[in-house]
Amino acid sequence: MGTKNIDRLPFEGFRRNAETVAQMQAAGWSVIAKCDTCRVALDVNLAFIAKASGPDTSLWNRRQRCKVVGCSGWVDFLGRHPRRASHEPLRAPWPEGVPARRTQAK
Ligand SMILES: [Zn+2]
Repeated sequence: MGTKNIDRLPFEGFRRNAETVAQMQAAGWSVIAKCDTCRVALDVNLAFIAKASGPDTSLWNRRQRCKVVGCSGWVDFLGRHPRRASHEPLRAPWPEGVPARRTQAK
């Protein structure tokens, strides 16, 4: 593998090989979901999502309602590549010059 500092690479470049929950799971990503209102953060079970919603489900640029009782906030997904130091919001455009995959999350 390269010797470049992987922490300095732009995060969106990682989307290319980790678009779906199945790809993220295979690569060893850690994903958490964090509410912007109550601040509750939960581990995201990629295997469970792959089973429940399909392995092609994508968590990029996605938000969902917080499930905490009494909270009306929104949950953001944050992912950590196994060789990166911290979780970062899964918000990125599809990388330029890469053919789009048909992986629309529902
Ligand atoms: Zn909440």
